[in-house]
Amino acid sequence: MKEKVYKILPGFLQNCLVYAYNRQAYKRRYGGEYQNFRKEKKENRHLSLEELKAYQKNRYAQFIEFVTQNSDYYKKTIGNIEHAELIENISSLPIVNKEVLRNNIDAITVKTSEKLEKSKTGGTTGKSLEVKFFFRDSQERFAFLDDFRSRFGYELGKKTAWFSGKNLLTDSDVKKKRFWKTDFVHHVRYYSTFHIKDDYLKYYVEDLIRFTPEYFVGFPSTILEIAKYGIANGYDFPENAVKAVFPTAETITDETRYYIEKFFKTKLYNQYASSEGAPFIIECEKGNLHLELQTGVFEVLDENNQPAQSGRLVVTSFTTAATPLVRYDIGDSITLEDADKKCSCGNNNPLVKEILGRIDDFIYSVENGKINLGNVSNTLKDTKGIIRFQAVQNKLDELDLYVVTDKEIYSKQIEKIFIENWRDRVGNVMKIHLKYVDEIPVEGSGKYRIVKNNIKDLL
Ligand SMILES: [Zn+2]
Repeated sequence: MKEKVYKILPGFLQNCLVYAYNRQAYKRRYGGEYQNFRKEKKENRHLSLEELKAYQKNRYAQFIEFVTQNSDYYKKTIGNIEHAELIENISSLPIVNKEVLRNNIDAITVKTSEKLEKSKTGGTTGKSLEVKFFFRDSQERFAFLDDFRSRFGYELGKKTAWFSGKNLLTDSDVKKKRFWKTDFVHHVRYYSTFHIKDDYLKYYVEDLIRFTPEYFVGFPSTILEIAKYGIANGYDFPENAVKAVFPTAETITDETRYYIEKFFKTKLYNQYASSEGAPFIIECEKGNLHLELQTGVFEVLDENNQPAQSGRLVVTSFTTAATPLVRYDIGDSITLEDADKKCSCGNNNPLVKEILGRIDDFIYSVENGKINLGNVSNTLKDTKGIIRFQAVQNKLDELDLYVVTDKEIYSKQIEKIFIENWRDRVGNVMKIHLKYVDEIPVEGSGKYRIVKNNIKDLL
C-alpha cells in the first residue's frame, strides 16, 4: 500500500519521502548508544593483538551467557556444555549452518519484550530469512562501519552515491531517464540497481559526473558496469573528486577493483559482513584485510571441522544477541595470511589473504571440481568486447554461458579465447553452450550474479 502511494506522488515529494524514511532510520541507527560505540571503536583502532584477544574473550563470555539464558534453541544445544563461555572451548559447541538457522529461526531468536529491528536476508537459493537485531546491536554495527569509513574521511552528510537493492523508481522516472532519487538533506543520491543496461548507462555516467559524489557505497557489480561503460565510451570522470568506494554485499574480484578504481580515479576499500550480522573484515589503507576480533570470533575450518589456513568461514558475532549467530557457517570461504605477517597500518588484527566468496557461487566440473567466483571472472582474460556474462549450471556435465557483447569489438577469434579460458578451468568433457543475448537480468534483490549454480544440492 505504502509503495502504491509513493509511486503516484510527484518526483519532488518522492524525494521528500526518501528523506523522511532515512530520517527515521538514521534516528534509530545514530541514537541510543551510537556515539559511545563510535568513541570506543576509535579508541580500539590501535589495540595490541593481546589486548584485542582479551577484549574478544570477555565479549565472547558475555555473549554466550546471554545466549544460553535467552534463546530456547541455544539453551538446549549448548546449555549443558561445561564452561561453554570460555573461548578456548569453542570447538565443543555445535556448528549452525544456514539450513539449521532457517528451520529453527523462532527458537533461536530470543524472547524479549523489547522492540527489535528486522532484517531480511536474501538467500541465494531464493528463500529469504528474517533475522532480528536489538537496536543497540545495530547501533554498534553502524558505529563500527562508520568508524571504518571515517578512516577515509567519510561522515554522514558527505556527498554520496548509493547503490542499493531498493527499487525507488516509477515508470515515469524510467521514461524520463532519471534513474535516481535524492535525499537533499543528507546529500545522498540513491541510484537504481535495477536498470543497469546499455541503453541507460549513459544517463548514470552523465549524472554521476554532474553530481560528483565524494563517496560511493553499494553493490560493486553495479558500480563496475557503470565504470566499464564510462571507459568504453570515452567519458572522463573528474580528477580527485571521489575519495573512496565502499562496496557492500558482494565478493570483489580483481576485475571489479581495477575498472572501478580506474574510471572513478579513486581507491576501493573492501569490507565484509552480512545481513545476518556477521562480524567484520575490513580493508586498511595498505590494501590488507583485517579480521576484526572485537566484533566476533572467526574460525576457518576444513571439511573435518579442523582449523585450517584456507576453508569455510564459521563465525560467532557479538552484535547478534537477538538472533544469535554462534559458530555460524555463513557459506563463504576465506584464506588466512601467515600468522607472523604484520601490517604496517597500525591495526594489529590478524590478516586475511583472500575472501573467496560464496561457496555456492561456483561452477562444478566433474573433471576439475569447484571453480570459484574469482576463477570464473578470470575467464575474461585476453578477451575484448564482452560486456557481461553469466554462467549457469543446470546439469553436472553442461554449462550455459549467457554473453552480452559489443558487436563492433567482439569477434570469432575472441570467442575462441573465451572458450579456451573456460576449457582451462572446466576441462574438456563438459558441454559448453554459448548463448548471445541482449541483456542479463538482475536478481530480485537488485544484484547481478555472474554465477548461478542450480545443481549444488546434488553435490
Ligand atoms: Zn593494515
